[in-house]
Amino acid sequence: MDIRGNLNRVRDRIVKAAGRVGRSPESVDLVCVTKTVGPEAIREAVANGVSIIGENRLQDACRKKELLAEIDVRWDMIGHLQRNKINSALEVFSFIHSVDSLKLAEAIGTRSLQRGRTMSVLLEVNVFGEESKFGLSPAKLEEEIEGICLVEGIKVQGLMTMAPWYDNAEDTRPGFAKLRELGEEIRARKVPGFDFRHLSMGMSNDFEVAVEEGATLVRIGSAIFT
Ligand SMILES: *Cc1c(COP(=O)(O)O)cnc(C)c1O
Repeated sequence: MDIRGNLNRVRDRIVKAAGRVGRSPESVDLVCVTKTVGPEAIREAVANGVSIIGENRLQDACRKKELLAEIDVRWDMIGHLQRNKINSALEVFSFIHSVDSLKLAEAIGTRSLQRGRTMSVLLEVNVFGEESKFGLSPAKLEEEIEGICLVEGIKVQGLMTMAPWYDNAEDTRPGFAKLRELGEEIRARKVPGFDFRHLSMGMSNDFEVAVEEGATLVRIGSAIFT
């Protein structure tokens, strides 16, 4: 695995995609998704400038973080989170991309307050319809957004989505554009507690399209670890 070379190529592609739409490349942060690799590969990625790690399984993240206690990076939860595991999730993660219900938001908020902190979260939205299964539907988001943003103990900083696999990455564009429009619309309505800073969208297959459509966090795994 040429982790350093892959990271350089990914960063270069982010810079070019941002440039095509007049965005500053600094407005896009790379979340390095390490779900398929072990501590050694993570260490090498961090040595090459990675500062945010994304994991989609709590137990894997716990184990890896313990083995990498000496490195100073941010650990992000990008996968589905079960309500009965929130306490350990709060120990490992400092950012959660995948809040998909009011109940989960409330559970995270309550546990965070018990720990004397607030958790930064994004709301996962299924903007791709039936083709992907996770997240709030846009209609449900509209219904629940005000309630979720009022939950104490969390800070809602934006939206996240995960595109299904398309052979042609261009096919993800309408979904990514839709996520941005939803965020802008909620901000324009001045929903209290919605602090719109992030759009988490784009993976190895489609991150350039996501950056062109406004992604501030791209979650990339296989393009780095191959
Ligand atoms: C695995 C995963 C990614 C990264 O996918 P790649 O195609 O390997 O870049 C991003 N987001 C989520 C939620 C994932 O589970």
